Amino acid sequence: MRRRSQLIMLLASLVAGCSQAPVFDKNAPGAVDEARLLAADSDADNWLAFGRTPDEQRFSPLDQINPQSVKDLGMAWSADMDTARGQEATPLVVDGVLYVSTAWSMVKAYDAATGKPIWSYDPEVPRDTLSRVCCDAVNRGVAIYHNKVFVGALDGRLIALDAATGKPVWSKVVVPDQKNYSITGAPRVVKGRIILGSGGSEYKARGSIAAFDPETGEEVWRFHTVPGNPADGFENAAMEKAAKTWTGKWWELGGGGSVWDSISYDPDFNLIYFGTANAEPWNPAPMGRTGDNLYTSSIVAVNADTGEYVWHFQETPEDRWDFDSNQSIILANLEFGGKPRRVIMHAPKNGFFYVLDARTGEFLSGKAFTYVNWASGLDPKTGYPAINPEARYEKTGKPFLAVPGAGGAHSWQSMSFSPKTGLVYIPVQEVGFPYAAEKDWKPSSIGFQTGIDSATTAMPADAKVQAEVKKVTTGTLLAWDPVAQKAVWSVKYPGPWNGGTLATAGNLVFQGTAGGQFVAYSADKGKKLWSFPTQSGVIASPITYRIKGEQYVAILVGWGGIWDVATGVLAGNSGSTRNISRLMVFKLGAKGSLPPPPPLAQMPLDPPPVTGTPEQIAEGARNYGRYCSACHGDAAVAGGLNPDLRHSGTLNDAAVFKSIVIDGILQHQGMVSFRSALKPKDADGIRHYVISRANEDKKLHAK
Ligand code: CA
Repeated sequence: MRRRSQLIMLLASLVAGCSQAPVFDKNAPGAVDEARLLAADSDADNWLAFGRTPDEQRFSPLDQINPQSVKDLGMAWSADMDTARGQEATPLVVDGVLYVSTAWSMVKAYDAATGKPIWSYDPEVPRDTLSRVCCDAVNRGVAIYHNKVFVGALDGRLIALDAATGKPVWSKVVVPDQKNYSITGAPRVVKGRIILGSGGSEYKARGSIAAFDPETGEEVWRFHTVPGNPADGFENAAMEKAAKTWTGKWWELGGGGSVWDSISYDPDFNLIYFGTANAEPWNPAPMGRTGDNLYTSSIVAVNADTGEYVWHFQETPEDRWDFDSNQSIILANLEFGGKPRRVIMHAPKNGFFYVLDARTGEFLSGKAFTYVNWASGLDPKTGYPAINPEARYEKTGKPFLAVPGAGGAHSWQSMSFSPKTGLVYIPVQEVGFPYAAEKDWKPSSIGFQTGIDSATTAMPADAKVQAEVKKVTTGTLLAWDPVAQKAVWSVKYPGPWNGGTLATAGNLVFQGTAGGQFVAYSADKGKKLWSFPTQSGVIASPITYRIKGEQYVAILVGWGGIWDVATGVLAGNSGSTRNISRLMVFKLGAKGSLPPPPPLAQMPLDPPPVTGTPEQIAEGARNYGRYCSACHGDAAVAGGLNPDLRHSGTLNDAAVFKSIVIDGILQHQGMVSFRSALKPKDADGIRHYVISRANEDKKLHAK
């Protein structure tokens, strides 16, 4: 009997041993393991991970394409995408196969040399998910490990696909709920685990980052970025410490601090670094929020094995401006203060460039990389900002036009670093935002939870004002010296929301623009050496790879994202806002061309006459600002993606308008019912407001 039970135990342990053995075939597609990821820098042919290497420098050692040869760069192949929303993804290339995610979290694989499609996967994200995401149906990329491709779907699933076939292996909801949380960021792979956060700090989200088993999707660890309700007890000492920096009942709305984009890794220190989003709601007053609110708007370092807190550096204490710190975190070895230092370089939304010690988080230096008016500077010892009292708009009771604003001096568009030039290449934005505290604001059951009065600050139908705001809303490609903390060269663009950057050993920097050009500059001087018209604005980041000795450059093209859906007349500041979604791949000597772009429909405004009372219109403006403007655009002026309500035929019919806003008849297209927050008379007020706006603009354009 004893022998038999011993035998059973032995057999059981053998079976367990088998099931734990990683399924990994070195000769099958997606043959990426831990050793390969750690040695990515010397693997110039491939682009194995989101930022190419764990330090996320987005620097390639390839130099076949260089200032002498770049004039011969042409299009090798292109692939039209079957989505028409913002394309933000960085493609990956592994052993001759290019993998890319698109809007709606779809994933596609191509022969990286010829463009021949290999497989395509659609997670069939419900379209009404759009009503719970701030910034379009975007996805920033996939991870590849052990013959699998990992994608975070917009609706909060982490999905593992077979790298050979694109067939799902497993799929798991990895967010606390699918009403307030969404995923747009690329997963990373650290020590054989999939690392991923989520978004939702404009809804009711409590930020966190977690590690998952690549074979099963099982959660291994999770680190929360803000404390929960103290009555429930704290998960760890870091949460207890953080709770001392909050007041009010922040947990009722989650608190924010989402980890929606940047994640870097230093194997020597065994640290995972990530950025956290704004505190929630933006306006601190309604929830009685005071204090620094750790660990929002911060960089946090955790133990790569356990997810345990190691250090943090908060860039924007007492955030009330949506100053996410989720932008690219680049690790590098710099000569700093006469000594070699392993540093973190960061250019968050708040407009300051930070250099931190990567082991300890010590603040080494910080300087504004663009015009900043919310703070007058940083404490040279601690990096703590000197906040302009006028920027505390909920205290003064007066609107404050902050520069930068919620769009950020730099957003998710990746920056890159060249160890050859020692420069960081930042897609900078000169964008303001008028913050006004909404009086008597209360959380609602649907929509943005910001406590901001978007009706009062909506763009007026005044040509002079619009022209002035457009003129100062611009973009810049900035080459920044992180040691001297100063600009070395810059290129000015007519509008913000230009693409991420790629630096190469060929002394080149590549960037796509909002105006629809893919451009190569010399990395040392910023001289424009080459460009290619892309027919649509570019917001994603380029990559480069090599097959059979030939260097390729790839970029996913397709205008969209928050700048299109929410900024009204400013959405078109760089030119056309239309979306033609396409992957474009270039190499030397190629002569490919694009088909002519489809004709652009120019619809005149033809609204019904104004019949609403001034009270109805004012009430409609308030509700529009709160519930509609984040998708249909400030002051009812949409970008290129979502319906521009000023043109809507439903303005003529109160019953139809009500059936959409209250009854949700267009739910399958992403326009959900707002019944939980609005009454039929509110819907009619919104209709009257949009009619009023359409008539104002018709008059404006007739002048
Ligand atoms: Ca945010």
